[in-house]
Amino acid sequence: MLSVEEGIKYLQASGAKITSQRIAIMKSLAGRSDHPSAEKLFLELKPQYPTLSIATVYSTTQILAQASMLRILSIDERKVYFDPDTHPHAHFMCTQCKKIIDIDVDLEILTRVGPKSGVASIENTEIFHYGLCSECGSD
Ligand SMILES: [Zn+2]
Ligand SMILES: [Zn+2]
Repeated sequence: MLSVEEGIKYLQASGAKITSQRIAIMKSLAGRSDHPSAEKLFLELKPQYPTLSIATVYSTTQILAQASMLRILSIDERKVYFDPDTHPHAHFMCTQCKKIIDIDVDLEILTRVGPKSGVASIENTEIFHYGLCSECGSD
């Protein structure tokens, strides 16, 4: 789970400069559930931070993802989406409007890892569903 205070601590520890832009990126991401793309986040912050570059969005989110404070979703081949909710859950993407919806999963039911599987522990799971959301699928 992303918290701005923890994010600042981790950025400092990893040698990154703490700038108002980086803080704004973290503030914007913390607690949101709409899975914004890198471009969306950039365009939202750009009016307030005219010198912000998309490279700063990528580098800041990379560092947060390394610290397990942010998930970078590879649900779409052409775009990168962010999720500050790092608890295990699956994602649904509407193939028409590209909306991303959280879906609860029971990983124990989905994952059968017996003693002979060769797997010692699972740290991360990505499950992506594709289809139509209730708005796009209703007509
Ligand atoms: Zn839709
Ligand atoms: Zn999510």
